[in-house]
Amino acid sequence: MVAVPRLTNLYSRVEPGPDGEEESILAIEGTAPFPFRLEHPEPLVWQVRAGAAVNMYTGPLEVRDGIIREVLVEEPGAGEVSFKVVLQTETEVFTTLEEGPPARAVLRFSREPLKKFYRGRRVVVDPGHGGGDGGFRGPVDLWEKDVVWTTSRVLAGELKRLGAEVVITRAPEENPSWQERCAKVTADTSLFISLHTHGAEDRNVRGAAVLYNPRAEGGDVLAGLVLEEITAKTKIPGRGIRPCLDLAVLGDRQGLLVETVTITNWVDEGILRNPYFHRKLAVATVNGFFHFAQKG
Ligand SMILES: [Zn+2]
Repeated sequence: MVAVPRLTNLYSRVEPGPDGEEESILAIEGTAPFPFRLEHPEPLVWQVRAGAAVNMYTGPLEVRDGIIREVLVEEPGAGEVSFKVVLQTETEVFTTLEEGPPARAVLRFSREPLKKFYRGRRVVVDPGHGGGDGGFRGPVDLWEKDVVWTTSRVLAGELKRLGAEVVITRAPEENPSWQERCAKVTADTSLFISLHTHGAEDRNVRGAAVLYNPRAEGGDVLAGLVLEEITAKTKIPGRGIRPCLDLAVLGDRQGLLVETVTITNWVDEGILRNPYFHRKLAVATVNGFFHFAQKG
C-alpha cells in the first residue's frame, strides 16, 4: 500500500520572483510530491485541490499583503485537501513545484496591480507634533512625536517601494502648524495621512481609530477599510472611525488622521517598541487605500 503524502506546512510571504519582481507567494509543503490542480471558481477566488492528507493547523490564514487576503483550508474527503485562496484583486498567477524534501507546491501571484495603483501617485505623510510639542506620553517613556515619526518613515518607505511619490511634512525636530502641514497637499495629491496616537486619562483605554475628511466622497468608507486592515493585521482593538473637521481644509481630497494606538495604555505603549508593528501599520494603511480604490 502506498502512503498518501501528508501536508505539513502552509505559509505566505512577499519575495522576489524569478524576474526579480516581488510576488505574493503561497507555499504548501508535504512529506512527498503530491498531485494538485488549480481552479478559479469565482472572481477573486483560487482553489487548490491537493491529493494528500493534512497534518497541520487548518484554521484560516490571514495574509493581507495587498494581494492575498486569506487562505481557508478544508478537507472535503479522505485523501483530498482544499485551499481556498481569497484575493484582494484579480492578478496573474503561476505555480512551481519542487520535489523536495520537503515537496513544495508554490502559487506565485503578481503584485503588479498594487504597484500599478501606487506608481507615480503623490501621498503626503504627516507625522504629528514634533520639536517642543511631544504630544501624548506613554506610562513608561515613549512620546507620541517620536513613535509617529517612526511609523511615518516606515510608511514612506513602503509607499516608495511601490513607486509612489512621498512627501513628509516635517523634519524630526520640527513642529509646523496644521496649515503648513496641509499646504504640502497639491492638486495632484491622492492622499494625506496624518499619524498620531490617542491619549486618555483612563489608562485602560486602548486601541486604534481612523478619522476622515467629511468633505471627501467615501471618506468614511476609506477610514473603515483602513481600520479593518489595521485591526486584522496588528490585532490592536479598533476604537472606530469618525469625521475630523480639521481635515475639511483639504476640500474634496481624501485625508485621514490615524490614531495608531492609545499610547497612555501600557500594553499599547509596549507594542510601539516592536519594529514589526510599525511595518504592519504601514502595510495595513497602504492596503486599505488600495482596497478603497478597487471598490471604485
Ligand atoms: Zn497627536
